[in-house]
Amino acid sequence: MTKRPLHPRSLAAQAMGKIDPLTKAVVPPIHVATTYIRDADNAYSSGFVYGRPDNETVHEAQAVLAMLEEAKAGALLFGSGMAAATAVFQALSPGDHVVASKVMYWALRAWLLTEATRWGLKIEFVETDDLAALKAAVKPGITKLIWAETPSNPLWTITDIAAAAEIAHAAGAKLAVDSTCASPVHTRPLTLGADIVMHAATKVLNGHSDVVAGALCASEDDEFWGRVKTVRKMQGGILGPFEAYLLMRGMRTLHLRQERQSASAMALAQKLSAHPLVSRVLYPGLPQHPGHDIAARQMQGGFGYMLSIQVSGGEQAAVAAAARVELYKRATSLGGVESLIEHRASIEGAGSPCPPDLLRLSTGIEDVEDLYADLDQALKAGHG
Ligand code: PLP
Repeated sequence: MTKRPLHPRSLAAQAMGKIDPLTKAVVPPIHVATTYIRDADNAYSSGFVYGRPDNETVHEAQAVLAMLEEAKAGALLFGSGMAAATAVFQALSPGDHVVASKVMYWALRAWLLTEATRWGLKIEFVETDDLAALKAAVKPGITKLIWAETPSNPLWTITDIAAAAEIAHAAGAKLAVDSTCASPVHTRPLTLGADIVMHAATKVLNGHSDVVAGALCASEDDEFWGRVKTVRKMQGGILGPFEAYLLMRGMRTLHLRQERQSASAMALAQKLSAHPLVSRVLYPGLPQHPGHDIAARQMQGGFGYMLSIQVSGGEQAAVAAAARVELYKRATSLGGVESLIEHRASIEGAGSPCPPDLLRLSTGIEDVEDLYADLDQALKAGHG
């Protein structure tokens, strides 16, 4: 690689420029070994001991993500986004107080309310986009973690990361940010003061709906990050080498995909705002979105690939519109090259802050006019 400083997109395109020393292959081999030879003196001079904690393909993918997130203490890959997120909470101690976003990925909220609570964590949910409410919920010396998802799924509320970090640190707590829907292309939470950033790498980081993976990145190699590393190593929620290879291949095109997807999401949000059968569009790129000003400050180059619409005519009209799409795929998940549509309330169930007339749209890389035309026909078909 050149000695000149390179942009993240250049480093990502070449997966950090690593060339296989044996064959000079531009794509490094996938390392599948579960164990490594010990030296005659019983040491492990290679630094690789056993496949659970140590795998070179996983290390290579971690290096790309750490570079993208500007993570001084590095990145750790996990077997899913949930495995990554729960490792942060498992690194806390029973009795610790946690303040978490009220609007967040529903399965993590469910896990916090059940398993984490059972294990002795005290979880309090607040609108983390409301800084006064966040400040009021944090107990100095007692709160150990603020968990904020931004933009938050599926309402796309925006938490001010720098302000939340200040509140956390003043109270002696850490700030962890689920940045799945921003991606490092648009936001790098660690540079804004967050301590840990989490990704469901299943989504736009991989981008092809063919890998389930999770990731954590940290700014400081401190005692807490050491605990997180121990949880991963000892509980074994690791990513396999084939998945790590696919994730690395996905990250080579992250910037291209993310830019196209965010530009299309913006265009769709603008056009759907004027649609007669859409009562509301939720997208942080729209000036009328309550989090727009903060998003404009902490998101660069776009506002992400996710938006939601509320359908005039209520829940039944929303479910019926989703049933009529032809190009969009009616499926859960997000961030892939193919656009997805989902009626969220029926997935999230009781206790969800998701309105019943809401359809969540994950924007892929298809032609944006085709995407709009598909939504338009699906919305209008039931209206004579
Ligand atoms: N965080 C967000 C914002 C998500 O959307 C998801 C999954 O949809 C997760 C976390 C969990 O990731 P995974 O499904 O890889 O466990």
